[in-house]
Amino acid sequence: MSVCQFKKQIQVQVFRKVSELQNFLQAQIQDSRSIGFIPTMGALHAGHGSLVSKARMENDIVVASIFVNPTQFNNPSDLEKYPRTIEKDVQLLAKLNCDAVLIPDVEQIYTKNFVMPPIDLGNLDQVMEGAFRPGHFMGVVSVVYRFFQIVDPDRAYFGLKDYQQVAVIRLMVQKLHLRQIIVACPTLREESGLAMSSRNARLTSSEKQDAVHISQTLFYAAEQSKIHSPVETKALTLAFFEKGNLRLEYLEFVHPVTLEPLRDKWVPESIACIVAYAGEVRLIDNIQLN
Ligand code: AMP
Repeated sequence: MSVCQFKKQIQVQVFRKVSELQNFLQAQIQDSRSIGFIPTMGALHAGHGSLVSKARMENDIVVASIFVNPTQFNNPSDLEKYPRTIEKDVQLLAKLNCDAVLIPDVEQIYTKNFVMPPIDLGNLDQVMEGAFRPGHFMGVVSVVYRFFQIVDPDRAYFGLKDYQQVAVIRLMVQKLHLRQIIVACPTLREESGLAMSSRNARLTSSEKQDAVHISQTLFYAAEQSKIHSPVETKALTLAFFEKGNLRLEYLEFVHPVTLEPLRDKWVPESIACIVAYAGEVRLIDNIQLN
């Protein structure tokens, strides 16, 4: 008998078909075992990994998905250039003890029978990402709703790096009376402060250095917010941002739930949100103030 036979196999079950994942889950769910779910678009990094690890601690069964959702891209070139590293992704998920990963094609997700219930996202779909990426959040809620149908998780894990996305998903759960608990997880950063992102893989090394200015701008805003009003903080922070080599799309200081812009007064847990381009790559980040 070789030593290898005693080694624990690190494995994650990979499913390409929705029905096969559902059969697997049927067989696994006994004695009310809980399911934790992490939807991703792949090109996984330690930020995604932190969501999987948290789900592992809090659930009996952990399921991830890798699906580059076409309906949430309003820019075709962004969709085309989105990094895809499936083999590495599966290895990382196995290492993190994820039980199953669904890697479906578009037809598996947007079947002829699939109907997204009508939902009004109100202001959340009008500001920031909603304003600059028309249709983006309708794409996000459709795909997350569909994945919730397929996996029926008890808890679903999302990163606060996409702050507005978490707010939108929470609103969807509330409005459609879904049973899922939404777990929001902190943003993982590189040592430089740059928020980890799949899109960082598209940066040249000098763009990556430039991109550090995004988090520096947020840290600067956090300092200024201690002594200045939102309007003053915004003016100072915009001036600070201008010192870098990036192109700003927006910088907003908003209410943590309604995402309404703040003017004269801070509220507890106000959020600073930023989107900027390093070269052609669009990067998003945010920080909680006070
Ligand atoms: P994506 O693959 O970009 O759709 O991301 C999948 C999930 O991982 C989303 O809920 C993201 O908010 C989350 N995520 C992405 N980057 C990070 C990060 N640096 N730290 C924590 N979570 C993240």
